Amino acid sequence: MNAISEQQLEEEKLTIQAAYEQMLGKIKSSMDDEDKRNIKAAYEMAVEAHAPQRRKSGEPYILHPIAVAQICAEEIGLGPTAIVSALLHDVVEDTPVTLEDIQKEFGEKIAHIVDGLTKLDHSVNAESPQAENFKKVLGTLIEDVRVVLIKMADRLHNMRTLGAMPRHKQLKIASETEYIYAPLAHRLGLYAIKTEYQDLVLKIRDPETYHGIARKLQETKRARTTYIEKFIEPIQKELDEMDVPYKVLGRPKSIFSIMNKLKTKKVAFEEIYDLFAVRIVVDVPPKKEKPVCWLAYSTVTDIYQPIPERLKDWITTPKSNGYESLHTTVVGPNGRYVEVQIRSQRMDEIAERGFAAHWKYKGVSAQPNVYDRWLSSIRDLFDNKESDAVEFINDFKTNLFNEEVYVYTPKGDMRMLPKGATALDFAFDIHSEVGYHCSAVKVNNKLVPMGYKLKHGDQVTVITNKNQKPTESWLKMVVTGKARSKIRSSMKEELRKKGIFGKEALERKFKNLKIDFEENIDFLVKYYDLKSRVDLYFAYAIEQLSTTDINKLFTISNGKLTEIVEEVPESETDATAPSGPTRKERRKSKIKPKIVINGQSADQFKYELATCCNPVQGDYIFAYMSNNGCKIHRSSCPNATQLMANYGYRIMKAEWSASMGNDFVAELLITGVDKGVGVIQTLSVEISNKLGLNIRSFYIDGHEGYFEGRVKLVVSNTDQLTVAIKALKKLEGIQSVTRIA
Ligand code: MN
Repeated sequence: MNAISEQQLEEEKLTIQAAYEQMLGKIKSSMDDEDKRNIKAAYEMAVEAHAPQRRKSGEPYILHPIAVAQICAEEIGLGPTAIVSALLHDVVEDTPVTLEDIQKEFGEKIAHIVDGLTKLDHSVNAESPQAENFKKVLGTLIEDVRVVLIKMADRLHNMRTLGAMPRHKQLKIASETEYIYAPLAHRLGLYAIKTEYQDLVLKIRDPETYHGIARKLQETKRARTTYIEKFIEPIQKELDEMDVPYKVLGRPKSIFSIMNKLKTKKVAFEEIYDLFAVRIVVDVPPKKEKPVCWLAYSTVTDIYQPIPERLKDWITTPKSNGYESLHTTVVGPNGRYVEVQIRSQRMDEIAERGFAAHWKYKGVSAQPNVYDRWLSSIRDLFDNKESDAVEFINDFKTNLFNEEVYVYTPKGDMRMLPKGATALDFAFDIHSEVGYHCSAVKVNNKLVPMGYKLKHGDQVTVITNKNQKPTESWLKMVVTGKARSKIRSSMKEELRKKGIFGKEALERKFKNLKIDFEENIDFLVKYYDLKSRVDLYFAYAIEQLSTTDINKLFTISNGKLTEIVEEVPESETDATAPSGPTRKERRKSKIKPKIVINGQSADQFKYELATCCNPVQGDYIFAYMSNNGCKIHRSSCPNATQLMANYGYRIMKAEWSASMGNDFVAELLITGVDKGVGVIQTLSVEISNKLGLNIRSFYIDGHEGYFEGRVKLVVSNTDQLTVAIKALKKLEGIQSVTRIA
């Protein structure tokens, strides 16, 4: 490394000092003497600790924490505690300063935040360190949201200064930003930061498109400004008469959103009209917000013709991330559509800064505390101790949905679920026990399939049955992180039980066949190329392997198994003959688990289980398609995040075939007369309690006392089905029971 001259060092000192002072100037919250002392002390500690370090660009490292502190103050609106923590955020990780040092100097709270911002110890044996890190950060989210907000600022500064990094690292960081930081920023209401993340990701991924749009925006700036002025003028005249302080802004949309429009609408830049939005912000006390906003709305629509379908009232019902605003699109001069957003100063601040501004106004707005509710749903995810980090991140991401539906319990309580949530999600939302035992769901008093997608205003009743339990197929019927993780952990438990059952069954069989268990079991594990005895028990339990196979393949003498070596005709062993599968391969394929890729049997793909993570049945998996065929990875595979982030287009959904064991689903058509005794109740008691069968779905339609129902049952064999049909036919009021599928 080149020696740095005295003079250069002097200059750098000045630059650092100037950056620090500039940052101080951006702190808006009031500070007492102690705050000032703490910030100064943190600055001095960080300067000294980072002194020998430089960033990839060559500049002194300390400029990074100062910049992060500035983003916290200026763009997120955080106060002194966060500024101190931001200044110290990389100190523990990268320098000799310890957490104890920080605690001594700044106290418990700051130490806690800095700890949250410090990456996991590298010695921790994590399958996916990246995901583990993020899980750690999110874990602190529910205790102190500032950790995540500072992390957002940290990531923003890193994204802004990514230029000095090698290309592959840039791409990796961009993928991470797109995958989790941007949705999280959205959920936290950090609108400006989310938009900048998206723009920066695009700039890295596709610099040509990015710069192309940026250039065109620049070129058309003057014409746009003229148009906006012309549009605003009559509005301003009217608003002036209202005698309410206001401002009107016309701003271009983000490069990312313009790029999306170009792509989805397949039009040229010149053909996009809504390149900008006009925003009217009124400054009135909270009580007057709503009437004044509507007054402004009526002013605008008196001047310009509104498009009725485009009116969005997020003042009466705010978005789940706290966003409040009135949106409309009107026909402006020259017939151009213009989006107009109307909101109060307070709403504007929440819209730009979300979470941070939200606390400032806590209690002011009439809206339910959306963040508290969201945080409690995140807390639910953390309750599930079993989920590994990648599963957790996946579940977490499903909690980042943009929109939701409002539905009601039978008692009239409102529940908020993400858009796309199903009846089964609702059951899990009420309580995990209700979810586990959900056997049927009624929406507005009509039975619906469990996968029914909830609509606004639905009243939902869950019918439970204690014999009901989650199956693999349930995972396809839910979208919420909570339901997914609960179903998965219940299934893992089920697998464990199946394994125990398999062991017992195998022991019994061995005893009957007079095979010594301990002496042969490991031999079989090896023979089938399995990883452990547990895998063998499991394979036996779900009948991927049977004692008939064992009888065919082995001879038994003195309690010991010996492989029967097939007599292979001489000609076939000829070296010139095309080589068929070796015995080992045949053996492997025999026990190869069934997998479904994108809803189709995986057999058509040349698929293999990845050796880096060795998935076993029940693991959460995905398929990675490459030129050499298809590999099945565990979602928690150390390579998963990287594969998903970098080769999204090669990833396909994969699941273990639902036929765990030999269970299959049969559908019955049941007709009869409903005498008002509750035919559903009667049928489900008979099926679940008396016959002990699982109901997959239940749909009943009735009019004038006559009903027709479709019930899907999970049965192991046709005998079981015949018994069930007979039993159901005997029930009072039932006329016919027919198998239709
Ligand atoms: Mn950092």
